Amino acid sequence: MSGLPKVELHLHLEGAAPPAFIAGLAQEKHLDIAGIFDADGNYRYKDFWDFLKVYEAATSALQSPRDYQRLVSAVLEQSAASGVVYCETFLSPDFCGGRDLGAWREYLHAIREAADAAERDMGVTLRGIITCIRHFGPDKARETARCAADTAGEWIVGFGIAGDEKVGAPKDYRWAFDCAREAGLRLTAHAGEWGGPESVRDAVRDLEVERIGHGVRAIEDLALVDELAERGIVLEVCPGSNVALGLYPTFRDHPIAELDRRGVKVTISTDDPPFFHTTMAREYEELHKAFDWDDGQFRKIARQSLDAAFCDADTKAKIAKLLEA
Ligand SMILES: [Zn+2]
Repeated sequence: MSGLPKVELHLHLEGAAPPAFIAGLAQEKHLDIAGIFDADGNYRYKDFWDFLKVYEAATSALQSPRDYQRLVSAVLEQSAASGVVYCETFLSPDFCGGRDLGAWREYLHAIREAADAAERDMGVTLRGIITCIRHFGPDKARETARCAADTAGEWIVGFGIAGDEKVGAPKDYRWAFDCAREAGLRLTAHAGEWGGPESVRDAVRDLEVERIGHGVRAIEDLALVDELAERGIVLEVCPGSNVALGLYPTFRDHPIAELDRRGVKVTISTDDPPFFHTTMAREYEELHKAFDWDDGQFRKIARQSLDAAFCDADTKAKIAKLLEA
């Protein structure tokens, strides 16, 4: 399974930071964030809300475009090792320059340099999806959307929303999503992870997204499952993340196989892999063990993922050849 070419659509750039990389940066900058690591050097947190705090503390070590450039190289090295050939990552002007457009452009330039080098040297193609952070509120989301609209193009391909699903409602972020859509960006939103099926309905109706981040709790409402299948709305499913955060006790209890059987377009991603002790290769292994999925099933999902990717047609055609290999 680990040798199969993979497409990953749901990966938070800062959340993918190897803990040793963050610890090293913190040391260089004399930052005391030792409390976020356990004795083995892994990230330590109690629950989802504590995870968000640890995530933000880890992110505080990333302070310059150069730091992000190094981060992208470290992250894509992990991706390439798992056989990922195409990846979309969430990144945010909130963390890169505090939503200042000039600063954001400098971060983006550095990120793209690292991505171009990784494509050349490691054979993994990266594209960016700008996300606003839900618990920072709608006003900041507007500023983030303006940065997204100003840098939309061949590399920034989408816009989304991440963060605490229990704060506010999708409709509060409508302006930001309209702004991004008018700039030509494709749309996704986190929903149906901590919120129930209604949160998925709200995101689809109020933000008109074509993909949902997670969305797995749609399974609690079979009429919604049918609707997602009929409308071709894609779920960015992150099984290992859901299991690590206690949404489902084991992979075997995860609804990805049932959603797939019912015709929903599911994809496989790692979300924040070091936080959840996972990799794309491990997701494949666990899904194979839990549901007896074979190479054919994984190839179907990889093609489905590429179809749902936000990149341009030329990039898709290039990646499609790698998937057929
Ligand atoms: Zn996520």
